[in-house]
Amino acid sequence: TRFTDLGLAEPIIKALAAKGYDKPTPIQVQSIPPLLEGRDLCGIAQTGTGKTAAFALPSLDYFARNPKPRPLGSCRMLVLSPTRELASQIATSFRDYGHNLRLSVEVVFGGVPIGRQISKLKAGADIVVATPGRLLDLIDQRAFHLRDVEIFVLDEADQMMDLGFIVPLKRIDKLLPTKRQSLFFSATMPKAIAELGDRFLTDPIKVSV
Ligand code: AMP
Repeated sequence: TRFTDLGLAEPIIKALAAKGYDKPTPIQVQSIPPLLEGRDLCGIAQTGTGKTAAFALPSLDYFARNPKPRPLGSCRMLVLSPTRELASQIATSFRDYGHNLRLSVEVVFGGVPIGRQISKLKAGADIVVATPGRLLDLIDQRAFHLRDVEIFVLDEADQMMDLGFIVPLKRIDKLLPTKRQSLFFSATMPKAIAELGDRFLTDPIKVSV
């Protein structure tokens, strides 16, 4: 399988070629076609498998085909990550793969002053990558809302649980529109994690690598 066989838009294929990716990884082969159809996805995958591109590429494809103005004080896609390092890496991947699409990608995490994040987010963004606690702080300060989210990704769900993010995640779930595409990834899928996934997902495709 090649990336062109998966049906991704030309500007994305070009960005991948520029990065020197010539073949999709197994999780990308399994995930990209159903995600392009708008399905929800529950993935068991570790970091290093190409999981970020597996969710970033079909989402970028959706934005390429469905352009819209950035929603003020909100975003069209929300990616939640347990740590700031991972959030930053995910944002960098979106910027790389979406290089030809002129999308705005913002990253917000705790442990740094909130003021600049507030001013950045007021203008809105296409894609926001966030850690759960800081995201809720921004929402509580009325700097941000989730009513315009069309695609939602929860990455590293097991780490989220270990770091005690379960209560914030449940709050975020209630603030998201019910009509949306949801993606849920975890390196392991014990019962408690699968139950968390059930909250977010509707009739998901299941992928395991
Ligand atoms: P991830 O599992 O998302 O952390 O990705 C692991 C690494 O693989 C990252 O450095 C990506 O840039 C790289 N990568 C992802 N997909 C591909 C691909 N299809 N071909 C080559 N490298 C890739």
